[in-house]
Amino acid sequence: MKVTLEGITKVFPPHSKKESPVTAVSNFNLEIPDGKLVALLGPSGCGKSTLLNMICGLEAPTSGSVFFDENDVTKLPPEKRGVGMVFQNYALYPHMSARKNILFPLGNLKGKAKLTKEEKNKRMLDAARIVQIENLLERKPGNMSGGQQQRVAIARALVKYPGILLLDEPLSNLDARLRLETREEIRRIQKNTGITTVFVTHDQEEAMSISDIIVLMKKGVFQQSGKPQDVYDNPANLFVAKFLGTPAINVFKGRIEGGKVYIGDEAVSDVPGCGDREVFIGIRPEGFIPDKNGPLTCDFRSIDVLGRDYMIVAAHGEAEAPVIRAIVDSENKIEENPEKVRFSFKKNKFFVFDAKTEERIYVG
Ligand code: ATP
Repeated sequence: MKVTLEGITKVFPPHSKKESPVTAVSNFNLEIPDGKLVALLGPSGCGKSTLLNMICGLEAPTSGSVFFDENDVTKLPPEKRGVGMVFQNYALYPHMSARKNILFPLGNLKGKAKLTKEEKNKRMLDAARIVQIENLLERKPGNMSGGQQQRVAIARALVKYPGILLLDEPLSNLDARLRLETREEIRRIQKNTGITTVFVTHDQEEAMSISDIIVLMKKGVFQQSGKPQDVYDNPANLFVAKFLGTPAINVFKGRIEGGKVYIGDEAVSDVPGCGDREVFIGIRPEGFIPDKNGPLTCDFRSIDVLGRDYMIVAAHGEAEAPVIRAIVDSENKIEENPEKVRFSFKKNKFFVFDAKTEERIYVG
């Protein structure tokens, strides 16, 4: 099922006279293609959960419309939308076995949708098989690990054959190892079922590693969407560039004068076609090349060996952060403990952003 959001805005009224209304989502337009795994990504409070709740019908938009394929579902209640929802805290019934938890949503189907006992059991077993918990069906949630409980929650969402699966921070209650395992699991389940899936996360690595498409938002406003690698390689603005990647992109203050961009006194690159202005320069850690004749000079701090690569930690007066991090191939030799280290840059790893709008104006 394709999902289209057209000009969605959500304003929460103030809770008291002292508060102002909160615009959680602002004029949001998005098309989520059928059968894809899409991550809604952004910092805490940027409106991700509110947007997800408007897709499933738990919140009504203040303005704008939600379409499933060509059908306007904006005014439909959640139970009529055919969506499966999985929350961060699983929300399983503690006194029921996994089997009963999974069967539960089938109990209140009415009319034509009503199922026989055999049909219900078959659906329950199919869902349990997809998430690989057939051998745990008699256990209650309290006797299962967080990852197993999350699988039961996903099975419970799948059992109604939803057209869309919505997951709100499904991994945040799990420890690091289980997070990794469970995210692969979600990817596998999504691939096997082909259900259009939207999941909310503030973890860029999680989003980048399993999604077909990532959608970045900031303060309720759409920033950019696309395949993870494309967005990483072509950030539309400084926010997106900073949000994706570990270690984070290195950001410097600078200016453009006469077709060249300067960091401090050094002209670090030609920027053909860009007018004079104040800018930010973003350089990915893997975009630095140690180079005795390179255009950017930094104060050397230390070297961290990472195995195949190493990380040069350095500092620069115009850098936003106290240190900059350059990840370079161990074949690049630099002298031991130099005072200064100079860099040139790899292609497509060097970005220039307008200081006022923070829009990207150049890729080097
Ligand atoms: P997190 O990652 O922390 O869950 P989020 O990106 O999902 O954050 P939302 O929960 O959608 O963000 O919240 C977006 C904004 O809307 C926040 O400023 C939040 O305080 C506000 N908000 C959310 N729900 C309500 C509500 N029922 N009443 C008033 N304000 C709300």
